[in-house]
Amino acid sequence: MKEYKTLEQKRRFYDSKEWKQIREEAKQRDNYECQPCKRRGLVRIDTNEYSKSAKRKKIQLVVHHIQELEDHPTLALEIDNLETVCVDCHNKEHGREFERNVNKWEMDEKW
Ligand SMILES: [Zn+2]
Ligand SMILES: [Zn+2]
Repeated sequence: MKEYKTLEQKRRFYDSKEWKQIREEAKQRDNYECQPCKRRGLVRIDTNEYSKSAKRKKIQLVVHHIQELEDHPTLALEIDNLETVCVDCHNKEHGREFERNVNKWEMDEKW
């Protein structure tokens, strides 16, 4: 069974063809909309609008593993375990862990 515990293992996973393909499928399935925002009646879609102050696109979408990759490696490429979220929601999804270690998810799932 594959493991995604170290940064190197994760990096390799997020760099894989398989991940890039399923990530696109997940975004398409979700119409390139943030699902948690949508559930709250907001629509945040990925745009190419560029925010000069943030030096990045205004809304960035991340394909998030509902069951953590690290704890559920068998669900790594299960589309049912994937959800399109905006960066704001992604930070919330990871909740306290994110606050405790700000850099932990910085690179996660954006590759
Ligand atoms: Zn959102
Ligand atoms: Zn995530």
